[in-house]
Amino acid sequence: VSMFLQPIRRITALVENYQRGAAGFNRFLETLDINPDIVDSPDAVEIGRLNGNIEFSNVTFSYNNKGDVLKDINFKIDKGETVAFVGPSGAGKTTLCSLIPRFYEIDKGSLMIDGMDIRKMTQRSLRDNVGIVQQDVFLFSGTVRDNIAYGKVAATDQEIIEAARLANAHEFIMALENGYNTYIGERGVKLSGGQKQRISIARIFLKNPPVLILDEATSALDNETEKVIQESFVKLAKSRTTLVIAHRMATIRNVDRIMVLTEDGIIEEGNHSTLMDKEGVYARLYKAQFDDLVS
Ligand code: ADP
Ligand code: MG
Repeated sequence: VSMFLQPIRRITALVENYQRGAAGFNRFLETLDINPDIVDSPDAVEIGRLNGNIEFSNVTFSYNNKGDVLKDINFKIDKGETVAFVGPSGAGKTTLCSLIPRFYEIDKGSLMIDGMDIRKMTQRSLRDNVGIVQQDVFLFSGTVRDNIAYGKVAATDQEIIEAARLANAHEFIMALENGYNTYIGERGVKLSGGQKQRISIARIFLKNPPVLILDEATSALDNETEKVIQESFVKLAKSRTTLVIAHRMATIRNVDRIMVLTEDGIIEEGNHSTLMDKEGVYARLYKAQFDDLVS
């Protein structure tokens, strides 16, 4: 019996792996900074560390020319500023942020950082300047140390521990069987969502980019984890230009500026109290959508 069953099991396992792999594949490419559709121009410049002044001018973008997801978007974000993007699901918040590291090519307009069109920069040097914390954290099979050091491979143990401390990850890492040398991923230790999130935050502290994109998780983490991660976000956002796709009131209340993105573009802009006073779309969204997230 087992002679018959085993190959079938193996095939089933393969199919499952393949499906999981396919779903994660784009993210994987993004994490590795490879997008086969986008190539550096021959005269692309290796830029050093940017200040992080971001400017969208008449940016229009569609996926595969299937209708504009973003149309004529204009805004400036100053170095060091923290801006939250809020709006209905599907409005294009994630898309807008993913244009900054040039994961996709815009159709019209320009996207400048420090006054330079990002298409004039090598992708590698552009992405060295941008850190991203995504909803679904991508960790690869390897040690905790390797996963943190991703993005700065030459980091010393000292630097890695410092980054993990800043991310409130050091303690749980030390409690793992082999500490920083513990294997995680497919064949290793399973980490909780909050622990993975903290490892990805440690990555950013280590990389220390001038531009940060935070795509906040919508699914609820437990309150304690949530608080710890929120604290790390605040620390991370300090001293860098931060764009946050915000779902949490704790974040939205404290940012310098909120931009409300709908299918009509950026329709309102201001801080929380200004926008509440205005009693427009933000105030409506806040009441309808964010009430249950306030705690
Ligand atoms: P938000 O983050 O505001 O929820 P998204 O940027 O994820 O919105 O999506 C904006 C629109 O673009 C949606 O209609 C969505 O279906 C579409 N979209 C998002 N990602 C892709 C993709 N990789 N390919 C094609 N369409 C996409
Ligand atoms: Mg999104």
